[in-house]
Amino acid sequence: MRHVSYLMMMVATLAVAIGCNNPQPQEAAAEGDSDVCQLRKSKEGIVGLETPQGIKLLVGIRDKDQFMSAELFEGYDDTVIAEYMPDGKAEAGINVYALFGKGMKVLFDCGVGEGNGGQLMSKLVDMGLSGDSITDICFTHLHFDHIGGLFTAQGKAAFPKATLHIPHEELDAWVSGPLKEQNEQVKRMLELYDGRIELFNAGDSLLGCIRTFPAPGHTPGHTVYAVKNYWVLGDLVHVEDMQVAHPEMCARYDFENEKAVESRCKLLEKMKAENACFYFMHASSPTARILKP
Ligand SMILES: [Zn+2]
Ligand SMILES: [Zn+2]
Repeated sequence: MRHVSYLMMMVATLAVAIGCNNPQPQEAAAEGDSDVCQLRKSKEGIVGLETPQGIKLLVGIRDKDQFMSAELFEGYDDTVIAEYMPDGKAEAGINVYALFGKGMKVLFDCGVGEGNGGQLMSKLVDMGLSGDSITDICFTHLHFDHIGGLFTAQGKAAFPKATLHIPHEELDAWVSGPLKEQNEQVKRMLELYDGRIELFNAGDSLLGCIRTFPAPGHTPGHTVYAVKNYWVLGDLVHVEDMQVAHPEMCARYDFENEKAVESRCKLLEKMKAENACFYFMHASSPTARILKP
């Protein structure tokens, strides 16, 4: 019954949520001085999108609270860092985004894992779902805080029926490329999910309604996703307000700074031009944002 009431609540939310598809620039600008403005204030945002396969709900789920330390940006202008991270840190989190609809329960990344304090699975259960009910997981990249949720605390497959969609170039980097020295978790993923992995090339469309775009730099095959005008940007930025205003700044987590800057500039410009709503995996809240026009 809990499941039914959750779905009813989601449908009721749709009437309000669909208005978010065409955000008004004035509304965004009225939110404050920051270049990044939250569209929705709820902690775990939810929007409804009309896709070729019917209405889907795009849901932001907080996996874990965290913060980003100013030390990640050592070497950049201290006054800029102090402006955005006055206490030497910025509020952040580990977020997962999900696309729910008839016959389709898709996650974008899956957090750090319950063995590391990740709450994704318990939140899915609260929504009346289970690990078995997830049909697909689309990965932006294969860092531990994005694939850790694939494993239960006992080391079993948390999503045994899911197909894992992984950018070809990203898997290559971890299996035989520059990240192969640190690939223990990737190897476990390949063993546990053998036969359930589908590789794609950034630029391909997935599942009929998900577009993919290359965004290399943070990792060699880092890839971002768009469902209609809503973008899931992975680790394109780590401290959103600061790096949107200063896209030339790279957190120490970026693998190749020059490419990361190029991807960040290019995609942020695209977001702005298209008045797109977007999400970051380490945003301070898992809600949709929009850039000032
Ligand atoms: Zn990452
Ligand atoms: Zn990350």
